[in-house]
Amino acid sequence: MSRTPLIVGNWKMFKTIPETTAFCLGLKEDMAGLDGKKVGAAVAPPFTALSAAAQALRGSFISVAAQDVFWAESGAYTGEVSPKMLADAGCRFGISGHSERRQYFHETDDSVNKKAAALIKEGLIPVICLGETLADRQGGSAFAVVERQTREGLKGLAVKDPERLVIAYEPVWAIGTGQTATPNQAQEVQAFIRKLLGEIFSSTMAQGVRILYGGSVKPENIGELMAMNDVDGALVGGASLDVKSFAKIVRGSISR
Ligand code: PEP
Repeated sequence: MSRTPLIVGNWKMFKTIPETTAFCLGLKEDMAGLDGKKVGAAVAPPFTALSAAAQALRGSFISVAAQDVFWAESGAYTGEVSPKMLADAGCRFGISGHSERRQYFHETDDSVNKKAAALIKEGLIPVICLGETLADRQGGSAFAVVERQTREGLKGLAVKDPERLVIAYEPVWAIGTGQTATPNQAQEVQAFIRKLLGEIFSSTMAQGVRILYGGSVKPENIGELMAMNDVDGALVGGASLDVKSFAKIVRGSISR
């Protein structure tokens, strides 16, 4: 089964509303000649700029993703944002379980799972992030950690269409460090995640779900990563903040 490449730009806590609008209009212009059936792209601005991004990207194949979500539909949860509010703001994707959320905001596999389930219920596509730390890798437990995060994060998710679920393998030691995993390291873990998808869901899901790689992806290394069978795109942090660099990564992903 062929899987359409997908590049998601995670802006983290960067860009105001005017900066978001300027970026998105620039990206839309740059991507105008590309066929949205051959590649998918999304930007994930801060909550405050989601609507502005959706408005600026209207009429293009580029989607908007939220960096986080809370699982309740509504209620007394000061500071939180529901899946319905994200849909209302124009989002198609929602990221769940980014390592910075796990590290600084104490997210667990259970909360990652609840957020993914809530996104699916609202018709949004979860991008579930997982990956081992340097200590896990050096201690020989990288695969055990990835297996636990995959099984717990995906537990009971009501999804049958592989296009409605995205996994991002992001080794924590590669995020924001400039130390990209080698293509073989990414492939080895991503093939393992795909095998787990077959056990958790079905072979159709395993073959169709897109598994992104994340961790210091740049225009210079997207080609070699995409050459791997089980790398279906990228979750990009730092290099997604510049329109030209992000656009180059999107173009560089259309290699298979
Ligand atoms: C990320 O934020 O998910 C990420 C992969 O960051 P960077 O590309 O900067 O390593």
